[in-house]
Amino acid sequence: MTLDDPSAMNTCPIQGWISSEAALKLFKNADVDFNQWLKNAKTRTFQATDLDLKLSFGLENSIKRAVSSNVIAKIVGSEFPEEVIIYSAHWDHLGIGIAIDDDSIYNGAQDNASGTAMILALAEAFKKEKEVKRTLVFIALTAEEEGLLGSAFYARHPIYEPSKSVANINIDALASYGKMKDLTIMGFGQSELDDLAEKIAIRQGRYVYPDPYPNKGLFFRSDHFNFAKIGIPAFFAFASFDAVNGGKEIIKNEYDQFYALRYHAPSDEFNRDTWRFGAMQQDGDLFYQMGLELANNRIWPKWNQDSEFKIIREMN
Ligand SMILES: [Zn+2]
Repeated sequence: MTLDDPSAMNTCPIQGWISSEAALKLFKNADVDFNQWLKNAKTRTFQATDLDLKLSFGLENSIKRAVSSNVIAKIVGSEFPEEVIIYSAHWDHLGIGIAIDDDSIYNGAQDNASGTAMILALAEAFKKEKEVKRTLVFIALTAEEEGLLGSAFYARHPIYEPSKSVANINIDALASYGKMKDLTIMGFGQSELDDLAEKIAIRQGRYVYPDPYPNKGLFFRSDHFNFAKIGIPAFFAFASFDAVNGGKEIIKNEYDQFYALRYHAPSDEFNRDTWRFGAMQQDGDLFYQMGLELANNRIWPKWNQDSEFKIIREMN
């Protein structure tokens, strides 16, 4: 699925994946050492070269167009209304799909009703705040599961000036555990938002834990990535690994179970008996405190020195 926007279309006429065996054959036919090239491709000086091979390809497509919406609300800042802090959470999930245990409805309770409920709760709480100096924006994004499309559309047509967008705090699939000791930050070290979050986490009695699986590329797999791509410092973190009751062991179990059984499956459902809200409460409080500090202390968090997004921010 792609955005119905000619500039968003990939200009390559065929896109696809091949297995490594197929790649080996392909390179062999071109008389090129695949493994050597794989090594070269990991260096900065690598340059793509024509393999001088030809491929004939037939493909029959039927194209279906669909419309969906990002839903945006705001609380206008009292002093600096053009400067915005953007909370985001995707509202879509996978709809109706292949039935598992006679259930074909992919509810997406954790992924990501937990996030959309969180931005509603944050908005409700901020409404009660006496003074909020900058504007707070709450975006429920569409079509995240289809390739971050709602946020990609926003990044192409930003409603708020990216250079005046102070930060994006993205919320996706919060933990349904009790209170936690950690705040796990995806893409740890990208921006000064991490420092702000750490300060608040410590106040809550939590410690900051850099994402232990950077190889899963989670920083590049939810909507904040598209905000980062237009230079807006983006933050993606939640309590993940270390429970106040039971420590890391108990969570590892639950975590493995979630990914094995419920992630992107019909069983990602609300369960009154097993869901606990301690971790969400901690995270909600942290997201709230971050927004409040950003709004009222008028901080401009920066990308860190070796972040790939720093240069984009500076060009804005
Ligand atoms: Zn999600």
